[in-house]
Amino acid sequence: MKAAVLFEPKKPLEIRDVTVDKPGPHEVLIRTVACGVCRSDLHFVDGAYPTPLPAIPGHEAAGIVEAVGDEVRTVKVGDAVVTCLSAFCGHCEFCVTGHMSLCISSDTKRPRDAAPRLSLNGEPVNQMLNLSAYAEMMLVHEHACVAIDPEMPLDRAALLGCAVTTGAGAVFNASPVTPGETVCVVGCGGIGLAAVNAAKIAGAGKIIALDPVPEKRALAEKLGATHSFDAMAESTIPEVVELTKGGVHHAIEAVGREASAQTAVKVLRRGGTATILGMMPLGSQVGLSALDLLGSKKLQGGLMGGNRFPVDIPRLVDFYMRGLLDLDTIIADRMPIERINDAFDELRKGDAARSVITFG
Ligand SMILES: [Zn+2]
Ligand SMILES: [Zn+2]
Repeated sequence: MKAAVLFEPKKPLEIRDVTVDKPGPHEVLIRTVACGVCRSDLHFVDGAYPTPLPAIPGHEAAGIVEAVGDEVRTVKVGDAVVTCLSAFCGHCEFCVTGHMSLCISSDTKRPRDAAPRLSLNGEPVNQMLNLSAYAEMMLVHEHACVAIDPEMPLDRAALLGCAVTTGAGAVFNASPVTPGETVCVVGCGGIGLAAVNAAKIAGAGKIIALDPVPEKRALAEKLGATHSFDAMAESTIPEVVELTKGGVHHAIEAVGREASAQTAVKVLRRGGTATILGMMPLGSQVGLSALDLLGSKKLQGGLMGGNRFPVDIPRLVDFYMRGLLDLDTIIADRMPIERINDAFDELRKGDAARSVITFG
């Protein structure tokens, strides 16, 4: 099958003919239909985060089930599915206490001495984030995908695999919004726009979007932001605080930079919560001051929006089908896998919302 392989950081991905194995007892073989291009991939491609190579990135995908292992009960051949990198074992402490997005059990991977899921000329190729979705086929653990309504368009469904589950998860799970509460979203890429849209669905009062790019602020307003400001302007933080009469209840950072994380903390009201979704460069730090702590402000990570994806993703599909979740606006461009390196260049420029790789 055709796949985009990363051999060396900071080098373009190469399209190669990769071999995918047959499904093991708990595995699912999926024909990839679409895969969103997420900034987290760029961190690995650009070498900001180490990862064993060669590897196939891509972790925001939807497709059709081609084959399943003997023990698979959750999906069947022909099902439309969305994959999620939050593969969960189902029996560790995180899983049984409802925090399955924190599961790090190796039970969802193949044992080290087993045949690899992916190989190139007989040598193993690393599966990134349990998925490796920049490929015509994905071979994943059954707890890394969920069946969805077959009416759902799969290029839009792909975004549910990472950006939307993460952005909406911040609003629904990690820092639950009560109707009328105020929300400030820092960064209006795929994740931030999903958070804005979810805040509207949750009935938030003021929804304030911050981004340096005017086009992205306009998208945020289309998706439900009641106000938007240039994230880089010095006047922005005091304006947000004044507009919300003392700061927001929920600040959501969706960029992955120290400065934007600090902005999320600075726009909080007393008792407010800042949730950092962005993947910051290794070694980054963000914190609360003595006065922030006296004001009972809270700062937390929000890995993958604290999702329970087998429940969350079908609900997000329903929101889309009912016209509440606007995935059409979040997608900026669709392109074939041959243009994956162009998609990364777009992301480095930072102007567009979300590119989606589609497989013909
Ligand atoms: Zn992602
Ligand atoms: Zn687990």
